[in-house]
Amino acid sequence: MDTSYILNEFAEERELYFNAVAPPIMQTSNFVFNTVDEMRNAFKDEFSTYLYSRGLNPTVDMLRKKLAALDEAEDCLVFNSGAAAIFAAVLANVKCGDHIVSVRDPYSWAQKTFNVILARFNITTTYVDGRDITNFEKAIQPNTSVIYLESPNSWDYALQDLEAVALLAKKHKIVTVCDNSYCTPLYQKPIVFGIDLVLQSATKYIGGHSDTVAGVLTGSSAMITNIFNSEYLNIGSGIQPFNAWLLLRGLRTLTARMDRISATAFKVVEYLKSNAKVAKVIYPFHESFDQFELAKKQMTGAGGLLTFVLNAASLQQVELFCNSLQHILMAVSWGGYESLIIPKAAGLAPETFNINIPEHRMIRLYVGLEEATYITDDLQQAFDRI
Ligand SMILES: *Cc1c(COP(=O)(O)O)cnc(C)c1O
Repeated sequence: MDTSYILNEFAEERELYFNAVAPPIMQTSNFVFNTVDEMRNAFKDEFSTYLYSRGLNPTVDMLRKKLAALDEAEDCLVFNSGAAAIFAAVLANVKCGDHIVSVRDPYSWAQKTFNVILARFNITTTYVDGRDITNFEKAIQPNTSVIYLESPNSWDYALQDLEAVALLAKKHKIVTVCDNSYCTPLYQKPIVFGIDLVLQSATKYIGGHSDTVAGVLTGSSAMITNIFNSEYLNIGSGIQPFNAWLLLRGLRTLTARMDRISATAFKVVEYLKSNAKVAKVIYPFHESFDQFELAKKQMTGAGGLLTFVLNAASLQQVELFCNSLQHILMAVSWGGYESLIIPKAAGLAPETFNINIPEHRMIRLYVGLEEATYITDDLQQAFDRI
């Protein structure tokens, strides 16, 4: 299906709402039945009709259809956060005593799901360097039920060969889950490579304006139906209609924003590479990236997230650089209109900071929708201070 068609028309039934161009927000908790028989049928299969908005809702349905189509997946659920999508995808595929193989350093709340919550149910997790397929082979046990991927990683952009991991997992009847937040379906479609369940934080590029928290999960009809009937309805973390509407609005401009962000990010990468105050720049779609060949094989582009290692002499200099930025904001998250930084040092206790460890001098930069020079001028005046 053509991307423009998905974003502009698909799943919209304008004749149902006065031919309005913009869809309405079905801000309702419940739906009416005319007969007992209709109500009985709805109770039998809540995934087939509108009953209660913890389950299906028409505004959310429009979004589900578009997001499934973008991923080339059969079906989709939209959650109230990316973390909820991670939790539901994993929980649906494990039982007591199972084992998970996860790529090292996945999103922090995925780690907490594995290490804190699932550990209470005797579910163990082995973390592997996912850049080498043999590490997955070595880690698989008879009780492995899930392989958890995040490609690229959102700090060092390490990739996994999605096709190779999916093949291996199928051989062992293991479910694969991949966090695709970095790329969005515009730049990578893990389902096409055989991954079973794909999730992304829609808080990032789908929302695109730093005003909504949401998560997307796509996969086969069978898997998504199971998750709907159990984790989705039971945990009750589905997206609310108003937030779904904000994401529908975000989708209208997704390609334009991604094109712009990606082009600007490339200029910022080139600027940083030529800067003496920068020891290293990591960006997965640049020829200097050590997995660039794999990136080109499975991604069609990269967004605005990049990391650089500051040539600083002390923690004070790292902090001075960050505190000196005038326009680039210091905040978590990314994918919005505004450029952002997070220094690795903010996550470290000062006494554990070691200037000789390059990772401690890492700064993650998200390039937003500003002019490239607006961003590089701001970086330059901060570099000049150290
Ligand atoms: C933000 C993020 C998430 C979690 O999404 P929320 O919407 O914040 O719950 C998951 N994975 C990655 C890579 C993220 O950056």
